[in-house]
Amino acid sequence: MTAIHNRRVLVTGGARGLGAAIVRSLMASGHDVDFTYRGSREAAEALALDLAALYPEQRLRPHALDLADKAALDDFCGVMEGEGIFGLVHNAGQPCDSLAAVLDQDRAEAAMQVNFWSLTRLAKALVRPMTRAKAGRIVAIGSVAALRANPGNAAYAASKGALIAYCRTLAIESARRGVTVNVVAPGFIDTDMMAPYAAHRAGMEKQIPAGRFAAPAEVADLVAFLLSPAAGYITGTVLPVDGGLTAMMGIHRT
Ligand code: NAD
Repeated sequence: MTAIHNRRVLVTGGARGLGAAIVRSLMASGHDVDFTYRGSREAAEALALDLAALYPEQRLRPHALDLADKAALDDFCGVMEGEGIFGLVHNAGQPCDSLAAVLDQDRAEAAMQVNFWSLTRLAKALVRPMTRAKAGRIVAIGSVAALRANPGNAAYAASKGALIAYCRTLAIESARRGVTVNVVAPGFIDTDMMAPYAAHRAGMEKQIPAGRFAAPAEVADLVAFLLSPAAGYITGTVLPVDGGLTAMMGIHRT
């Protein structure tokens, strides 16, 4: 992509996995990027060095932040709300495996805080300046887990479902003021989040119409498009990037 947009975007969880691919894609589109990271300090520094060499005219600022720490998130929001942020990409997310009938509320609330509540807190800080500027973009990373049931994934699915319902409402509340809000719902992406299921990968890939997991860039480039001028009329949507998974009937002849 050519460098044309040059507006400042904040990405949560940007040091690794899908988040790092989103940071790369946004920098390639010409944006200045702030990103948060929690434990991945070395990866954050390596990414910043790499991208500073590739895009010396653009600014990239990593911020250490644990989204589960509400006081630290409040402080961070206090700083960012005056910074003229054009775009917010809420990518950080954590899994929470549990059967629906025996949900542990504390574990589920921890996932809810990172996957859902932290977006609402960031939006509270950033949407008003966006509406004042009559320009803003928000993209949240959801999951197909919120669109189709997956045994053992109730709390994670509920957190992503909350994210989708919240984003739809935010989209219609802010559409007249030049802000778009969309959810990208990936299927299976080749990142650390899938590492615990490595032994099952071949069997899982067989059940995906495209026959494979997504590369992080295949999701990240859609996020960058949603931050581009061409996407100004797309709002309130949930866009699956899943190799056909949610289009398919669950049972099929093998
Ligand atoms: P990952 O585990 O590599 O990355 C998760 C990111 O979230 C990391 O950057 C991590 O630092 C951040 N994070 C987690 N807890 C945090 C906290 N308390 N504070 C701050 N940051 C925190 O996995 P990924 O695949 O890159 O995940 C990115 C997003 O994509 C997540 O929202 C995930 O739910 C979603 N997703 C992933 C897949 C997949 O197959 N990998 C599928 C659907 C949706």
